Amino acid sequence: MGEKKKKIVKTIKVDVDKCNGCRACEVICSAFHAAPKYSSNNPARSRIRVIHEPLKDIYIPVYAGEYTKAECTGRDKYVIDGKEYDECAFCRASCPSRDLFKEPDSGLPLKCDMCEDDPPQKEPLCVQWCLNKALIYEEREVEVDEEEEVKKEDMEIGLEALLDKYGLDKITETVARLSMSKKG
Ligand code: SF4
Ligand code: SF4
Repeated sequence: MGEKKKKIVKTIKVDVDKCNGCRACEVICSAFHAAPKYSSNNPARSRIRVIHEPLKDIYIPVYAGEYTKAECTGRDKYVIDGKEYDECAFCRASCPSRDLFKEPDSGLPLKCDMCEDDPPQKEPLCVQWCLNKALIYEEREVEVDEEEEVKKEDMEIGLEALLDKYGLDKITETVARLSMSKKG
């Protein structure tokens, strides 16, 4: 067993009953992550998506979680108030079986980074923009193993996805070609 150390985990509690589907969270998230920042907004690039169930008039915000290159082998179905939901409806993963949480142009995975910024935001932007208080920011102290996996940056997650899709040879060849054309 490795040594334990304390770590602050940032979380967002979702109070589904308060969400009215305004999608302000999707707008601000995609704007914050646009390049340059705030230059555009497109909910398809947001790291939070609001699942809408029209018959029940329910809106459920779901955050983009980990990238995974494999589809699930087993899947869960949810029945809420008598309505059965799609087995992938509330899943946070960016995975091969659907387009959710992928950059629409490149197909690269999207993941919520809690609006990392310098200087830091006082709270994640989707929380600040949710006027209905459906998103509640919380920090929790947890114990983790000393040899905990190093946190991956956006670029690393994207590279991993590219590697899975095209293979190392193809990527190395493309990078070499691009750097030659930049130099020339
Ligand atoms: S901003 Fe708040 S109320 Fe609006 S869709 Fe997002 S979570 Fe729901
Ligand atoms: S915390 Fe930031 S990155 Fe995560 S979904 Fe909200 S706005 Fe997007």
